[in-house]
Amino acid sequence: MTATALAFDLGGTDLRAAIVTQAGEVRQALTVPTLAREGVDAVLDQMTSLAKTLMAGTDGTIAGVGLGAPGPLDPLAGIMVAPPTLSGWHDVAVVKRLSARLGLPVFLDNDANVAALGEWRHGAGRGFETVLFVTVSTGIGGGVVSNGRIFHGRRGLAVEIGHMTISGFGPTCLCGNVGCFEALASGTALGHRGADAALRPGGEKIAAAQSAIGRPGARAVVEAARVDDPVALALIAKEAEWLGIGLTNLLHIFSPDIVVFGGGLSNAFDLLIGGIRSVVATRAMSAYRDVVIVRAGLGTNAGLVGAAGLVFTPSSSATREDRHQT
Ligand SMILES: [Zn+2]
Repeated sequence: MTATALAFDLGGTDLRAAIVTQAGEVRQALTVPTLAREGVDAVLDQMTSLAKTLMAGTDGTIAGVGLGAPGPLDPLAGIMVAPPTLSGWHDVAVVKRLSARLGLPVFLDNDANVAALGEWRHGAGRGFETVLFVTVSTGIGGGVVSNGRIFHGRRGLAVEIGHMTISGFGPTCLCGNVGCFEALASGTALGHRGADAALRPGGEKIAAAQSAIGRPGARAVVEAARVDDPVALALIAKEAEWLGIGLTNLLHIFSPDIVVFGGGLSNAFDLLIGGIRSVVATRAMSAYRDVVIVRAGLGTNAGLVGAAGLVFTPSSSATREDRHQT
């Protein structure tokens, strides 16, 4: 009989759940809008309800529950600390509470770490010893899996790459600092530069793309770049430069065998990779320059596949003794 896990991908907008096999196959995925403003019990009720629906439809044994959730969280203690996108979630012992409701062991980690694990097990990072996963969307997140183990650091707070300083200047980040990787290189930052450019002479193609999409954002810049608009291409080149600078720091710190690039902006990977590589080729020390850089392989399923990976790769995270089990 196929071993399966119950996987949750908890976001501030959507709550996804699925049965996932040990081979990484996603079965019967369900998505509901997260009751993000209604407090802890409302969301736990949603998760319990999805679990019952999914478990009723499976004939296999569920080995455990994997939960990918927004940080900050403490994966070792099983506690969600204070996710900004979920109201009322302060120091919630989610592992203990969900485990009590479902009668199964629950394994928790933050969404970027979970996606990194998913890409290492079944995606673009498969077969590589040390995988650095970088997700660039609204913000920037990351995860490192080395020898099958997520690198956690103290309280599970490691690899918060969006808030490393890559410039002494720049826009103020949500964290309050200036010069954060996320404030300069996220999709949001590219979208802001695009919106500014759209108002200036030469920005007509970006403005038209914004109108067609219905709002400004990184996607409008990418679409204008795809029709060779020079202003959009210059913005993409600048974006690639910031990504390359951040990535160069990360290569020197982690020396991964492969960098897996995910998130919404990975849709423009083909436009960005040349610029990223040329920054790495000039800024990284020579021993680091030949690192493999690829686009993520699992797409929107990375969170579910990775959450299941927490169950099937128990050594990926805390030791079993650390777990809260029923
Ligand atoms: Zn920051």
